[in-house]
Amino acid sequence: MRLLVVEDEPDLLHPLHFGLSNAGYAVDGAPNGTEALAKATQTTYDLVVLDLGLPDMDGLELCRRVTALQTRPRVLILTARDGIADRVHGLDQGADDYLVKPFAFPELLARVRALLRRDNGTAGSVLVCGALELDLVRHEVWWHQQPLSLTRKEFAVLEYLMTRQGAVVSAEELLEHVWDENADPFTQTVRVTVGTLRRKLAAGNHPTPLETVVGRGYRLREAS
Ligand code: CA
Repeated sequence: MRLLVVEDEPDLLHPLHFGLSNAGYAVDGAPNGTEALAKATQTTYDLVVLDLGLPDMDGLELCRRVTALQTRPRVLILTARDGIADRVHGLDQGADDYLVKPFAFPELLARVRALLRRDNGTAGSVLVCGALELDLVRHEVWWHQQPLSLTRKEFAVLEYLMTRQGAVVSAEELLEHVWDENADPFTQTVRVTVGTLRRKLAAGNHPTPLETVVGRGYRLREAS
C-alpha cells in the first residue's frame, strides 16, 4: 500500500517515513502543502498521513483538497492541537481519522491498518483467498496451512493482489501502490517480484492462484 506522509518537521517526518517503510508500506514524504498536493494529484495514494501545522498552507485546507481528488485517498490527520473543535473540523473536511501528538507509533500503525482495511473489505487483520491467508499484523502468510517465507516486497505485492482478488492488476498499478517514488518506472522489478512470489506459491505443488494475463497484468484467484 502506498502512503504519503505530509510533515514539515524533519525530526518527525524521518522517523515516520522509516517506521512506516519498515512496516512494509511504500512511503513518500512531503515537507509542505504545495509538494503534498502535487504528489497526491500525480499518484494514487491509499492513505495520506497529514500534519495540520504546515508552513505554506492550512492543513485543513489541504485535507479538503486531497479528499476532493478523484482518487480520494484515506486521510489520517496528525495534530498537536488537541482542542475538540479542531478534531471535529478535521473530520468535517474529509479526514477519516485523527491522532493527537505526541502519539505512540504502534497506535499510528494500528490506525493506518484500520483505515486501509475499510477499502479492502475485511473486518479483521487477515486477508483470505482460498487456501491463502495473509496476516497484516503478524506479517505472516500461510498457503495450504504451511508458512510461506516472503520478502517485504513480495508480501506487499501479495497483499495488494489479495485486496483486488479476481481482478486483473497491471504492472503499472502494482508499481504505483507497492513501490515508492524512488522506483524506476521502466524497471523490471514488478515482473521479477511477481515471478519469485509465484515460484514460492508453486513450491508445494498446489495449483497456483497467481496467473499472468498476457498483455494486461496479473490476477489472483481462489485456486480450485
Ligand atoms: Ca508541523
